[in-house]
Amino acid sequence: MVRKKIKKLLIGTNNKGKLREIKSLLPKKIKFCSTADFNLKSPKEDGKTFKENSLIKSRHFSLKSGLICLADDSGLEIDILGKRPGIYSARWGGRNSDFNKAIKKVYRELNKVDKNWKRKKIRARFICALSICDKNKKIACVQGKVEGFISSEPKGKNGFGYDPIFIPLNKTKTFSEIKSSQKYKIDHRYDAFKKIKKFL
Ligand code: IMP
Repeated sequence: MVRKKIKKLLIGTNNKGKLREIKSLLPKKIKFCSTADFNLKSPKEDGKTFKENSLIKSRHFSLKSGLICLADDSGLEIDILGKRPGIYSARWGGRNSDFNKAIKKVYRELNKVDKNWKRKKIRARFICALSICDKNKKIACVQGKVEGFISSEPKGKNGFGYDPIFIPLNKTKTFSEIKSSQKYKIDHRYDAFKKIKKFL
């Protein structure tokens, strides 16, 4: 069966940084709206993986709005922290999603594991799972990533979340030091978008 192309799409996120980036990646022919337009609260993210959590969100927002929904779940994995914060990346910022607090926690945890970590290359990656649901029906679910390292100190003013401490592989600047338009072309969401584009 040939599926009809999507004309209107709800973007299932309450995070302004992610919303900005997702909008810039979507084909211009699609009309989109956001969860703020419907005053929708986020569901409990009790999945065990990025993919499960993105499906929980897209299904929830689609059922609540009646629209097809694209939702993402993303986060930072740090190898020597056993891939933490991982799916808990947003929660490390506490109730108010305070990214400074989340970054301090990363440095605290790194110090606990290895006092000399600043002299080493601390391998990390951003992961992004994207899902599209039409009410209870799953249309697509994909995952993208960008590999890199943790900076020994936060640097830069652009972006959001853990951007000031993440240096992508083969680069010398953090995501916060490069322009957003450049970050969007190499990051985990872009990688996931390449895989989900054919469903849009
Ligand atoms: P969630 O997908 O809404 O559960 O939140 C993911 C969390 O991961 C965000 O709140 C950020 O802390 C972090 N995160 C995801 N993508 C990025 C990114 O592109 N830059 C910086 N931090 C990110």
